[in-house]
Amino acid sequence: MNQKQFACYECDTLITITSINEGEVASCPRCHHHIVDKKYDSINRTLAISGTGLLLFIPATFFPLMSMQLLSVESSASLMSGISALWQTELYLVATLIFLFCVLAPLVKLSAAFFVTLGYKHKRHQHPFYKQLMLFYHHVDSWEMLEVFLIGILVSIIKLKDMADLSFNLGLLCFSAFMLCVLSLKVTLDKQMIWDDLDYEH
Ligand SMILES: [Zn+2]
Repeated sequence: MNQKQFACYECDTLITITSINEGEVASCPRCHHHIVDKKYDSINRTLAISGTGLLLFIPATFFPLMSMQLLSVESSASLMSGISALWQTELYLVATLIFLFCVLAPLVKLSAAFFVTLGYKHKRHQHPFYKQLMLFYHHVDSWEMLEVFLIGILVSIIKLKDMADLSFNLGLLCFSAFMLCVLSLKVTLDKQMIWDDLDYEH
């Protein structure tokens, strides 16, 4: 039976965990902080979510997010056309930040999660490259700015609604679903389980 020792992140109590089933949580007996959270059907669920997110990438970035009617002139903009407009008006820093956090970072994170779970599902996690991929995902996972940008975008849309006649397009739905997929990775992907498997094999 696999026995593993963990130190509680909150109070440093040493705990030996022998086995834990999917969907169960091991908590610290002293402070009740969660030590190991074994996620239910982690690989299949993460593969499905990251695959869906990757499929949504093109409509989320290139389809119009909304149409705006201002003084009888109607215009619509997608995420990429918005970034391009910011760049043309010499707001280089804002355009770069939006591109990094709303386009590139989510795409990289979804792709990394997709290949991590696909590799694990096809039992390729003994491959030396797999450990590098897991390390890469670990670093990407620590980029926590996505939520802030998502909230920022939603707030600006709500504010715009008072100034102009707004209608929402399919792109906004795809973009929200795309971001939801990125945020869900944190809930579904069980990194601890994958690291444990890698540790036992080396
Ligand atoms: Zn504790």
